[in-house]
Amino acid sequence: MSDLSPYLGSLKGKRILGINPPVHDFAFFDLWAKPLGLLYILGMLRDRGNDVDLLDCIHEAASVDRKFGRQNPYRTEIAKPSPYADIPRRYWHFGLNSDEFIFKMKEKVRPDLILITSAMTYWYPGTFWCIRMIKRLLPDVPIILGGIYPVLCPEHSPLSGADLVQTVPMPLPASRPAVDLYGKIAYGVSLTSTGCPRRCSYCASSILWPEFCTRRPEDILCEIADQVCLGALDIAFYDDALLFGKETRFLPLCGEIGERFPGIRFHTPNGLHVKEIDRICARALFQAGFQTIRLSLEGDDPVNRKAGNMKTTAAEYSEAVFNLVEAGFPLEKIETYILAGLPGQTAGEVEENINFVRSLGARPKLALYSPIPGTRLFREVASRHPQVALEPLLQNNTVYAPYISGEMTGDELQQLKDLARQH
Ligand code: SF4
Repeated sequence: MSDLSPYLGSLKGKRILGINPPVHDFAFFDLWAKPLGLLYILGMLRDRGNDVDLLDCIHEAASVDRKFGRQNPYRTEIAKPSPYADIPRRYWHFGLNSDEFIFKMKEKVRPDLILITSAMTYWYPGTFWCIRMIKRLLPDVPIILGGIYPVLCPEHSPLSGADLVQTVPMPLPASRPAVDLYGKIAYGVSLTSTGCPRRCSYCASSILWPEFCTRRPEDILCEIADQVCLGALDIAFYDDALLFGKETRFLPLCGEIGERFPGIRFHTPNGLHVKEIDRICARALFQAGFQTIRLSLEGDDPVNRKAGNMKTTAAEYSEAVFNLVEAGFPLEKIETYILAGLPGQTAGEVEENINFVRSLGARPKLALYSPIPGTRLFREVASRHPQVALEPLLQNNTVYAPYISGEMTGDELQQLKDLARQH
Protein backbone atom coordinates (compact mmCIF):
# COMPACT_ATOMS: atom_id res chain seq x y z
CA MET A 1 0.00 0.00 0.00
CA SER A 2 1.43 3.36 -0.85
CA ASP A 3 0.38 6.79 0.34
CA LEU A 4 1.93 9.61 -1.65
CA SER A 5 0.10 12.44 0.15
CA PRO A 6 3.19 13.52 2.18
CA TYR A 7 5.29 13.55 -1.00
CA LEU A 8 2.69 15.59 -2.92
CA GLY A 9 2.30 17.94 0.03
CA SER A 10 6.06 18.59 0.05
CA LEU A 11 6.29 19.66 -3.62
CA LYS A 12 7.13 23.30 -4.35
CA GLY A 13 8.07 25.19 -7.51
CA LYS A 14 7.28 22.22 -9.80
CA ARG A 15 5.36 22.14 -13.07
CA ILE A 16 2.63 19.56 -12.58
CA LEU A 17 0.21 18.34 -15.21
CA GLY A 18 -3.01 16.57 -14.18
CA ILE A 19 -4.60 14.25 -16.74
CA ASN A 20 -8.09 12.79 -16.88
CA PRO A 21 -7.60 9.85 -19.27
CA PRO A 22 -9.92 8.61 -22.04
CA VAL A 23 -12.48 5.91 -21.22
CA HIS A 24 -12.63 2.51 -22.92
CA ASP A 25 -16.07 0.95 -22.53
CA PHE A 26 -19.20 -0.20 -24.34
CA ALA A 27 -20.98 3.02 -23.35
CA PHE A 28 -20.17 6.24 -21.52
CA PHE A 29 -22.58 8.97 -20.46
CA ASP A 30 -21.56 12.27 -18.97
CA LEU A 31 -23.46 12.54 -15.69
CA TRP A 32 -21.70 15.83 -14.91
CA ALA A 33 -18.45 13.88 -14.72
CA LYS A 34 -15.44 16.00 -13.85
CA PRO A 35 -12.30 14.65 -12.13
CA LEU A 36 -13.07 16.52 -8.92
CA GLY A 37 -10.49 14.72 -6.73
CA LEU A 38 -7.72 15.57 -9.21
CA LEU A 39 -8.91 19.20 -9.36
CA TYR A 40 -8.72 19.49 -5.56
CA ILE A 41 -5.18 18.08 -5.57
CA LEU A 42 -4.13 20.47 -8.34
CA GLY A 43 -5.67 23.30 -6.29
CA MET A 44 -3.65 22.24 -3.25
CA LEU A 45 -0.43 21.94 -5.28
CA ARG A 46 -0.96 25.41 -6.72
CA ASP A 47 -1.56 26.86 -3.26
CA ARG A 48 1.83 25.44 -2.29
CA GLY A 49 3.67 27.27 -5.03
CA ASN A 50 3.60 24.84 -7.95
CA ASP A 51 2.56 25.63 -11.55
CA VAL A 52 -0.34 23.37 -12.43
CA ASP A 53 -2.06 22.51 -15.68
CA LEU A 54 -4.77 20.11 -16.79
CA LEU A 55 -5.53 17.90 -19.77
CA ASP A 56 -9.02 16.42 -19.55
CA CYS A 57 -9.14 13.90 -22.40
CA ILE A 58 -12.92 13.59 -22.13
CA HIS A 59 -13.79 17.26 -21.88
CA GLU A 60 -11.34 18.20 -24.68
CA ALA A 61 -13.09 15.89 -27.14
CA ALA A 62 -16.77 16.43 -26.49
CA SER A 63 -19.64 18.56 -27.65
CA VAL A 64 -21.93 20.31 -25.18
CA ASP A 65 -25.25 19.20 -26.54
CA ARG A 66 -26.90 17.31 -23.77
CA LYS A 67 -29.38 18.75 -21.33
CA PHE A 68 -28.08 20.85 -18.42
CA GLY A 69 -24.61 21.40 -19.87
CA ARG A 70 -23.64 17.75 -20.09
CA GLN A 71 -21.36 16.65 -22.87
CA ASN A 72 -21.29 14.00 -25.56
CA PRO A 73 -17.69 12.74 -25.73
CA TYR A 74 -16.47 11.79 -29.21
CA ARG A 75 -15.77 8.10 -29.64
CA THR A 76 -13.79 5.78 -31.88
CA GLU A 77 -14.51 2.07 -32.16
CA ILE A 78 -11.62 -0.09 -30.94
CA ALA A 79 -10.89 -3.81 -30.63
CA LYS A 80 -12.33 -5.48 -27.56
CA PRO A 81 -9.84 -6.77 -24.98
CA SER A 82 -9.77 -10.57 -24.86
CA PRO A 83 -12.00 -10.97 -21.73
CA TYR A 84 -14.75 -9.27 -23.76
CA ALA A 85 -14.22 -11.35 -26.92
CA ASP A 86 -17.63 -13.04 -26.63
CA ILE A 87 -19.63 -9.96 -25.61
CA PRO A 88 -21.80 -9.08 -28.64
CA ARG A 89 -21.43 -5.32 -28.30
CA ARG A 90 -19.22 -2.64 -29.85
CA TYR A 91 -16.38 -1.27 -27.73
CA TRP A 92 -15.25 2.36 -27.83
CA HIS A 93 -12.46 4.76 -26.97
CA PHE A 94 -14.18 7.89 -25.58
CA GLY A 95 -12.22 11.15 -25.61
CA LEU A 96 -9.05 12.37 -27.32
CA ASN A 97 -7.63 9.89 -29.85
CA SER A 98 -3.87 9.28 -30.32
CA ASP A 99 -3.22 12.15 -32.75
CA GLU A 100 -5.28 14.60 -30.73
CA PHE A 101 -3.62 13.52 -27.51
CA ILE A 102 -0.12 14.00 -28.97
CA PHE A 103 -1.13 17.41 -30.33
CA LYS A 104 -2.53 18.56 -26.98
CA MET A 105 0.48 17.27 -25.05
CA LYS A 106 2.86 19.14 -27.38
CA GLU A 107 0.98 22.36 -26.64
CA LYS A 108 1.72 21.96 -22.92
CA VAL A 109 4.83 23.21 -21.16
CA ARG A 110 6.98 20.17 -20.34
CA PRO A 111 5.93 19.10 -16.81
CA ASP A 112 8.18 17.86 -13.99
CA LEU A 113 5.48 15.47 -12.85
CA ILE A 114 2.25 14.05 -14.24
CA LEU A 115 -0.75 13.00 -12.15
CA ILE A 116 -3.26 10.69 -13.79
CA THR A 117 -6.60 10.02 -12.23
CA SER A 118 -8.86 7.02 -12.79
CA ALA A 119 -12.42 6.08 -11.96
CA MET A 120 -14.14 2.75 -12.59
CA THR A 121 -11.97 -0.33 -12.05
CA TYR A 122 -12.96 -1.67 -15.50
CA TRP A 123 -11.85 1.53 -17.23
CA TYR A 124 -8.21 0.68 -16.61
CA PRO A 125 -7.48 0.06 -20.35
CA GLY A 126 -8.09 3.77 -21.12
CA THR A 127 -5.80 4.74 -18.24
CA PHE A 128 -3.08 2.31 -19.34
CA TRP A 129 -3.38 3.64 -22.92
CA CYS A 130 -2.80 7.16 -21.62
CA ILE A 131 0.24 6.13 -19.57
CA ARG A 132 1.76 4.32 -22.58
CA MET A 133 1.24 7.44 -24.73
CA ILE A 134 2.93 9.67 -22.15
CA LYS A 135 5.83 7.28 -21.72
CA ARG A 136 6.42 7.47 -25.49
CA LEU A 137 6.23 11.28 -25.54
CA LEU A 138 7.92 12.11 -22.22
CA PRO A 139 9.80 9.01 -21.06
CA ASP A 140 11.68 10.87 -18.31
CA VAL A 141 8.70 12.53 -16.66
CA PRO A 142 7.47 10.58 -13.63
CA ILE A 143 3.80 9.61 -13.58
CA ILE A 144 1.69 9.12 -10.47
CA LEU A 145 -1.53 7.16 -10.85
CA GLY A 146 -4.32 7.93 -8.38
CA GLY A 147 -8.10 7.93 -8.20
CA ILE A 148 -10.60 5.19 -7.45
CA TYR A 149 -9.17 2.28 -9.46
CA PRO A 150 -5.82 1.88 -7.62
CA VAL A 151 -7.53 2.17 -4.22
CA LEU A 152 -9.96 -0.61 -5.12
CA CYS A 153 -7.43 -2.69 -7.08
CA PRO A 154 -4.06 -2.14 -5.33
CA GLU A 155 -2.65 -5.38 -6.72
CA HIS A 156 -3.74 -4.80 -10.31
CA SER A 157 -2.89 -1.10 -10.67
CA PRO A 158 0.93 -1.50 -10.56
CA LEU A 159 0.53 -3.10 -14.02
CA SER A 160 -0.35 0.36 -15.32
CA GLY A 161 3.24 1.39 -16.10
CA ALA A 162 2.96 4.45 -13.81
CA ASP A 163 6.07 5.19 -11.73
CA LEU A 164 4.12 5.53 -8.48
CA VAL A 165 0.61 4.50 -7.53
CA GLN A 166 -1.56 5.98 -4.77
CA THR A 167 -3.30 2.90 -3.39
CA VAL A 168 -4.75 4.29 -0.17
CA PRO A 169 -7.65 6.74 0.00
CA MET A 170 -6.53 10.35 0.05
CA PRO A 171 -8.44 12.86 2.18
CA LEU A 172 -9.84 15.82 0.29
CA PRO A 173 -7.41 18.77 0.42
CA ALA A 174 -8.84 21.92 1.99
CA SER A 175 -7.93 23.99 -1.11
CA ARG A 176 -10.38 25.11 -3.77
CA PRO A 177 -10.51 22.81 -6.81
CA ALA A 178 -8.56 24.17 -9.80
CA VAL A 179 -11.65 24.25 -12.04
CA ASP A 180 -10.43 27.49 -13.66
CA LEU A 181 -7.92 25.33 -15.59
CA TYR A 182 -10.83 24.49 -17.91
CA GLY A 183 -11.35 28.14 -18.87
CA LYS A 184 -15.08 28.38 -19.65
CA ILE A 185 -17.31 25.61 -18.33
CA ALA A 186 -20.92 24.64 -19.03
CA TYR A 187 -21.44 22.94 -15.68
CA GLY A 188 -19.70 22.84 -12.33
CA VAL A 189 -19.37 20.26 -9.58
CA SER A 190 -19.20 20.41 -5.82
CA LEU A 191 -19.18 18.32 -2.67
CA THR A 192 -20.65 19.23 0.69
CA SER A 193 -19.32 16.06 2.33
CA THR A 194 -17.26 12.96 1.63
CA GLY A 195 -18.26 9.41 2.48
CA CYS A 196 -21.47 8.02 3.90
CA PRO A 197 -22.34 6.99 7.47
CA ARG A 198 -24.15 3.91 6.14
CA ARG A 199 -22.35 0.79 5.07
CA CYS A 200 -24.33 -0.87 2.27
CA SER A 201 -22.85 -4.21 1.32
CA TYR A 202 -22.35 -3.40 -2.36
CA CYS A 203 -21.08 0.18 -2.03
CA ALA A 204 -17.49 1.45 -2.09
CA SER A 205 -18.16 4.74 -0.33
CA SER A 206 -16.69 3.64 3.02
CA ILE A 207 -13.59 2.21 1.29
CA LEU A 208 -12.89 5.41 -0.63
CA TRP A 209 -13.85 7.66 2.29
CA PRO A 210 -13.37 5.74 5.56
CA GLU A 211 -14.86 8.63 7.59
CA PHE A 212 -17.93 10.70 6.85
CA CYS A 213 -16.62 14.31 6.74
CA THR A 214 -18.47 17.51 6.07
CA ARG A 215 -17.09 20.67 4.44
CA ARG A 216 -17.42 24.28 5.56
CA PRO A 217 -20.43 26.04 3.95
CA GLU A 218 -18.30 29.09 3.07
CA ASP A 219 -15.89 26.86 1.10
CA ILE A 220 -18.78 25.29 -0.81
CA LEU A 221 -20.31 28.69 -1.61
CA CYS A 222 -16.97 30.10 -2.83
CA GLU A 223 -16.45 27.02 -4.96
CA ILE A 224 -19.86 27.41 -6.58
CA ALA A 225 -19.31 31.15 -7.10
CA ASP A 226 -15.97 30.45 -8.83
CA GLN A 227 -17.65 28.04 -11.23
CA VAL A 228 -20.60 30.32 -11.94
CA CYS A 229 -18.04 33.02 -12.85
CA LEU A 230 -16.53 30.55 -15.34
CA GLY A 231 -19.92 30.25 -17.07
CA ALA A 232 -21.51 27.27 -15.30
CA LEU A 233 -25.30 27.36 -15.34
CA ASP A 234 -25.57 23.91 -13.77
CA ILE A 235 -23.91 22.56 -10.62
CA ALA A 236 -23.91 18.88 -9.68
CA PHE A 237 -23.32 17.73 -6.10
CA TYR A 238 -21.26 14.55 -5.99
CA ASP A 239 -22.04 13.71 -2.36
CA ASP A 240 -22.84 10.14 -1.37
CA ALA A 241 -24.87 11.37 1.61
CA LEU A 242 -25.96 14.89 0.67
CA LEU A 243 -28.88 15.00 3.10
CA PHE A 244 -27.26 13.34 6.10
CA GLY A 245 -27.39 15.78 9.05
CA LYS A 246 -29.33 18.12 6.77
CA GLU A 247 -30.69 20.38 9.54
CA THR A 248 -27.30 21.78 10.39
CA ARG A 249 -25.65 21.84 6.98
CA PHE A 250 -27.64 21.12 3.82
CA LEU A 251 -30.83 23.05 4.61
CA PRO A 252 -28.98 26.26 5.59
CA LEU A 253 -26.81 25.82 2.48
CA CYS A 254 -29.93 25.52 0.31
CA GLY A 255 -31.14 28.88 1.64
CA GLU A 256 -27.80 30.48 0.76
CA ILE A 257 -27.47 29.02 -2.73
CA GLY A 258 -31.08 29.91 -3.56
CA GLU A 259 -30.37 33.53 -2.64
CA ARG A 260 -26.87 33.86 -4.05
CA PHE A 261 -27.25 31.90 -7.27
CA PRO A 262 -30.71 32.60 -8.70
CA GLY A 263 -31.23 30.87 -12.05
CA ILE A 264 -28.49 28.30 -11.47
CA ARG A 265 -29.75 24.72 -11.72
CA PHE A 266 -28.55 22.14 -9.20
CA HIS A 267 -28.42 18.38 -9.66
CA THR A 268 -27.93 15.30 -7.51
CA PRO A 269 -26.63 12.53 -9.80
CA ASN A 270 -26.13 10.16 -6.84
CA GLY A 271 -29.27 8.73 -5.24
CA LEU A 272 -30.64 10.79 -2.33
CA HIS A 273 -31.55 9.08 0.93
CA VAL A 274 -35.31 8.89 0.73
CA LYS A 275 -35.79 8.87 4.51
CA GLU A 276 -34.39 12.42 4.70
CA ILE A 277 -36.87 13.96 2.25
CA ASP A 278 -39.50 15.41 4.55
CA ARG A 279 -41.67 18.40 3.58
CA ILE A 280 -39.11 20.99 4.71
CA CYS A 281 -36.31 19.30 2.84
CA ALA A 282 -38.38 18.89 -0.35
CA ARG A 283 -39.31 22.58 -0.27
CA ALA A 284 -35.69 23.61 0.35
CA LEU A 285 -34.53 21.54 -2.64
CA PHE A 286 -37.16 23.11 -4.88
CA GLN A 287 -36.57 26.67 -3.76
CA ALA A 288 -32.80 26.37 -4.11
CA GLY A 289 -33.23 25.43 -7.80
CA PHE A 290 -32.60 21.67 -7.80
CA GLN A 291 -33.67 20.19 -11.13
CA THR A 292 -32.58 16.59 -11.24
CA ILE A 293 -33.65 14.56 -8.24
CA ARG A 294 -32.47 10.97 -8.08
CA LEU A 295 -33.68 8.64 -5.36
CA SER A 296 -32.62 5.11 -4.40
CA LEU A 297 -35.02 2.28 -3.82
CA GLU A 298 -32.55 -0.41 -2.84
CA GLY A 299 -33.79 -0.79 0.70
CA ASP A 300 -37.21 -1.86 -0.49
CA ASP A 301 -35.82 -4.90 -2.25
CA PRO A 302 -35.97 -8.11 -0.21
CA VAL A 303 -32.54 -9.13 -1.54
CA ASN A 304 -31.06 -5.92 -0.27
CA ARG A 305 -32.76 -6.34 3.05
CA LYS A 306 -31.08 -9.70 3.28
CA ALA A 307 -27.83 -7.99 2.38
CA GLY A 308 -28.34 -5.50 5.20
CA ASN A 309 -29.49 -2.45 3.28
CA MET A 310 -32.57 -1.20 5.07
CA LYS A 311 -32.11 2.18 3.47
CA THR A 312 -35.70 2.80 2.76
CA THR A 313 -39.15 1.33 2.85
CA ALA A 314 -42.06 1.59 0.46
CA ALA A 315 -43.90 3.94 2.82
CA GLU A 316 -40.89 6.25 3.20
CA TYR A 317 -40.35 6.28 -0.54
CA SER A 318 -44.01 7.14 -1.23
CA GLU A 319 -43.85 9.92 1.32
CA ALA A 320 -40.68 11.35 -0.21
CA VAL A 321 -42.28 11.39 -3.67
CA PHE A 322 -45.40 13.00 -2.23
CA ASN A 323 -43.33 15.69 -0.47
CA LEU A 324 -41.33 16.44 -3.61
CA VAL A 325 -44.48 16.78 -5.73
CA GLU A 326 -46.10 18.95 -3.10
CA ALA A 327 -43.01 21.17 -3.10
CA GLY A 328 -43.37 21.70 -6.85
CA PHE A 329 -41.27 19.03 -8.58
CA PRO A 330 -43.01 17.52 -11.60
CA LEU A 331 -43.18 13.72 -11.29
CA GLU A 332 -41.10 13.20 -14.43
CA LYS A 333 -38.17 14.96 -12.76
CA ILE A 334 -38.11 12.43 -9.93
CA GLU A 335 -35.97 9.53 -11.06
CA THR A 336 -35.42 6.44 -8.94
CA TYR A 337 -32.47 4.07 -9.22
CA ILE A 338 -33.39 0.41 -9.07
CA LEU A 339 -30.49 -2.00 -8.85
CA ALA A 340 -30.71 -5.20 -10.88
CA GLY A 341 -28.41 -8.20 -10.99
CA LEU A 342 -27.54 -8.42 -7.28
CA PRO A 343 -26.60 -11.86 -5.97
CA GLY A 344 -29.75 -13.83 -5.15
CA GLN A 345 -32.09 -11.30 -6.75
CA THR A 346 -34.77 -12.44 -9.19
CA ALA A 347 -36.18 -10.64 -12.22
CA GLY A 348 -39.61 -10.74 -10.55
CA GLU A 349 -38.35 -8.74 -7.58
CA VAL A 350 -36.86 -6.07 -9.83
CA GLU A 351 -40.07 -5.95 -11.85
CA GLU A 352 -42.05 -5.43 -8.66
CA ASN A 353 -39.86 -2.44 -7.74
CA ILE A 354 -40.18 -0.91 -11.21
CA ASN A 355 -43.95 -1.29 -11.10
CA PHE A 356 -44.05 0.21 -7.62
CA VAL A 357 -42.15 3.33 -8.73
CA ARG A 358 -44.31 3.61 -11.83
CA SER A 359 -47.49 3.23 -9.78
CA LEU A 360 -46.57 6.49 -8.03
CA GLY A 361 -45.90 8.21 -11.36
CA ALA A 362 -42.14 8.59 -10.75
CA ARG A 363 -39.50 7.42 -13.25
CA PRO A 364 -37.63 4.19 -12.57
CA LYS A 365 -34.02 4.10 -13.73
CA LEU A 366 -32.54 0.64 -13.93
CA ALA A 367 -28.93 0.42 -12.71
CA LEU A 368 -27.11 -2.85 -13.31
CA TYR A 369 -25.13 -4.14 -10.36
CA SER A 370 -21.37 -3.83 -10.70
CA PRO A 371 -19.30 -5.89 -8.22
CA ILE A 372 -16.85 -3.53 -6.51
CA PRO A 373 -13.67 -4.96 -4.96
CA GLY A 374 -13.42 -4.55 -1.20
CA THR A 375 -17.17 -4.49 -0.59
CA ARG A 376 -18.87 -7.20 1.46
CA LEU A 377 -20.96 -8.37 -1.47
CA PHE A 378 -17.86 -8.64 -3.64
CA ARG A 379 -16.58 -11.48 -1.46
CA GLU A 380 -19.71 -13.46 -2.23
CA VAL A 381 -19.38 -12.71 -5.95
CA ALA A 382 -15.68 -13.63 -5.96
CA SER A 383 -16.33 -16.95 -4.24
CA ARG A 384 -18.78 -17.87 -7.01
CA HIS A 385 -16.91 -16.25 -9.91
CA PRO A 386 -13.20 -16.07 -8.96
CA GLN A 387 -12.30 -14.63 -12.38
CA VAL A 388 -14.13 -11.40 -11.43
CA ALA A 389 -11.61 -10.77 -8.64
CA LEU A 390 -8.65 -11.33 -10.96
CA GLU A 391 -9.83 -9.32 -13.97
CA PRO A 392 -11.37 -5.87 -13.30
CA LEU A 393 -12.86 -5.82 -16.82
CA LEU A 394 -15.35 -8.44 -15.61
CA GLN A 395 -16.59 -6.00 -12.94
CA ASN A 396 -18.20 -3.93 -15.70
CA ASN A 397 -21.96 -3.83 -15.06
CA THR A 398 -22.62 -4.15 -18.81
CA VAL A 399 -20.84 -7.49 -18.68
CA TYR A 400 -21.24 -8.88 -15.17
CA ALA A 401 -25.03 -8.81 -14.78
CA PRO A 402 -26.06 -10.30 -18.14
CA TYR A 403 -23.09 -12.54 -18.99
CA ILE A 404 -21.39 -13.69 -15.77
CA SER A 405 -23.64 -13.55 -12.73
CA GLY A 406 -26.21 -16.11 -13.89
CA GLU A 407 -28.80 -14.28 -11.73
CA MET A 408 -30.84 -13.12 -14.71
CA THR A 409 -30.63 -13.76 -18.43
CA GLY A 410 -29.77 -11.01 -20.90
CA ASP A 411 -33.35 -11.19 -22.20
CA GLU A 412 -34.80 -10.75 -18.73
CA LEU A 413 -32.59 -7.72 -18.11
CA GLN A 414 -33.58 -6.24 -21.46
CA GLN A 415 -37.26 -6.69 -20.63
CA LEU A 416 -36.70 -4.97 -17.29
CA LYS A 417 -34.90 -2.10 -19.01
CA ASP A 418 -37.78 -1.75 -21.47
CA LEU A 419 -40.30 -1.83 -18.64
CA ALA A 420 -38.38 0.88 -16.76
CA ARG A 421 -38.26 3.05 -19.89
CA GLN A 422 -42.01 2.90 -20.50
CA HIS A 423 -43.52 5.95 -18.95
S1 SF4 B 1 -26.53 4.73 1.48
FE1 SF4 B 1 -25.75 4.95 -0.61
S2 SF4 B 1 -23.75 5.95 -0.43
FE2 SF4 B 1 -24.34 5.19 1.62
S3 SF4 B 1 -23.35 3.22 1.78
FE3 SF4 B 1 -25.44 2.86 1.02
S4 SF4 B 1 -25.28 2.87 -1.23
FE4 SF4 B 1 -23.38 3.76 -0.40
